[in-house]
Amino acid sequence: AQHFLARMKTHEALGAFLATNEDATLAQARAADARIAAGTAGALEGVPLAHKDIFVTTDFPTTAGSKMLEGYRSPFDSTVVRKLAEAGMVTLGKLNCDEFAMGSANENSAFKPVRNPWDPTRIPGGSSGGSAVAVAARLAPAATGTDTGGSIRQPASFCGITGIKPTYGRASRYGMIAFASSLDQAGPMARSAEDCALLLSALCGPDPDRDSTSLDVPAEDFTRSLNDSLDGLRIGIPKEFFGEGLAPGVRAAVDAALKEYEKLGARLVEISLPRTELSIPVYYIIAPAEASSNLSRFDGVKFGHRARDYTDLLDMYKKTRAEGFGDEVKRRIMIGAYVLSHGYYDAYYLQAQKIRRMIADDFQQAFKQCDLIAGPVAPSVAWKLGEHGNDPLADYLADIFTLPASLAGLPGMSVPAGFGEGAMPVGLQLIGNYFAEAKLLNAAHRLQ
Ligand code: GLN
Repeated sequence: AQHFLARMKTHEALGAFLATNEDATLAQARAADARIAAGTAGALEGVPLAHKDIFVTTDFPTTAGSKMLEGYRSPFDSTVVRKLAEAGMVTLGKLNCDEFAMGSANENSAFKPVRNPWDPTRIPGGSSGGSAVAVAARLAPAATGTDTGGSIRQPASFCGITGIKPTYGRASRYGMIAFASSLDQAGPMARSAEDCALLLSALCGPDPDRDSTSLDVPAEDFTRSLNDSLDGLRIGIPKEFFGEGLAPGVRAAVDAALKEYEKLGARLVEISLPRTELSIPVYYIIAPAEASSNLSRFDGVKFGHRARDYTDLLDMYKKTRAEGFGDEVKRRIMIGAYVLSHGYYDAYYLQAQKIRRMIADDFQQAFKQCDLIAGPVAPSVAWKLGEHGNDPLADYLADIFTLPASLAGLPGMSVPAGFGEGAMPVGLQLIGNYFAEAKLLNAAHRLQ
């Protein structure tokens, strides 16, 4: 813990951390030492990690990357944080992210951008950009992230690390500040598939009293099949993931990884996910709709920011929200409120829900032909800070390959595949059927 606390300070310019609390970290580390000495060590006793600042914590402030929650301190720990602490892990601090996890570049953090350690003029990806950078720059051995539409997989890809989003409902959302509740899912980001497997085994599991959407599936030991043979494994290659718009360097790295799989005994089969393109409009209707509802709780009354000068209650709400939320968050609230409004609900929200179901069905068709699916995580490598300027659509379009699995609730991961344009890292995306995390981690581990 001392090593990482020191390293964090010499790498502050990367912008990965939003909060630290050395006393709390060292107290946790000493408690871990005592448990080791007493012979009562947990599975991950004494291993440090850092949490995306979307998980509420008692030992550190929690902001969700927003001014709205500046200085907020939760009275409880989120379930994921609690479970990892129970396994013995030591928290190093809280990691920068896009405001309320809305973004693909970490440029929507209300506090500071995060820089990619491979090239500090480039973005790290988002929204779990701080998590990916902390691991890539060795500021922490592991981190938590959340993935609503790609926020674990895409920054993992852009920073050359490994990250997995489990099946929706595997991990409890209790204490994870809500963005889009039907999509939000927690997962680990680490240096290898093996580390991810250790972390995932500790953080998953039912939480029936606190998250009604957590699934009644017992926690698993995801390390058990890491070394299984891939002989005869059928890997589906969705042709829609390899069309124009895919950077040649990304394509070459992904192709090279697929060749490796063939050498390991796997067979590549062409499949189709025909509604891949539609996942963008569908996601950017459903996620803002849910966000507009979830964020209504930030009204200046119960917690977080409250405007100073106001005339009456309505004026207080308006000023609080105008001051507390950043542009992207406001944009999503407006889109969400619009698509849910009387007269537009049927045309937008309902229609999007129907196509979401079709996207999930397309995957089930595909899984008749293959055991898992592989392709790029994103169409390009990490872009330059500011490159997308004031064009939010450029960010949205870059989510095309991560959104389908999110909408279907399927597990997905990013595993380093090589390097593309600008010698920047490229991740290979692996998508599995429901509860196939062990198979994903096995395939990822064999590639490493
Ligand atoms: N980039 C997507 C968005 O902005 C996904 C973010 C996420 O997964 N949290 O909504």
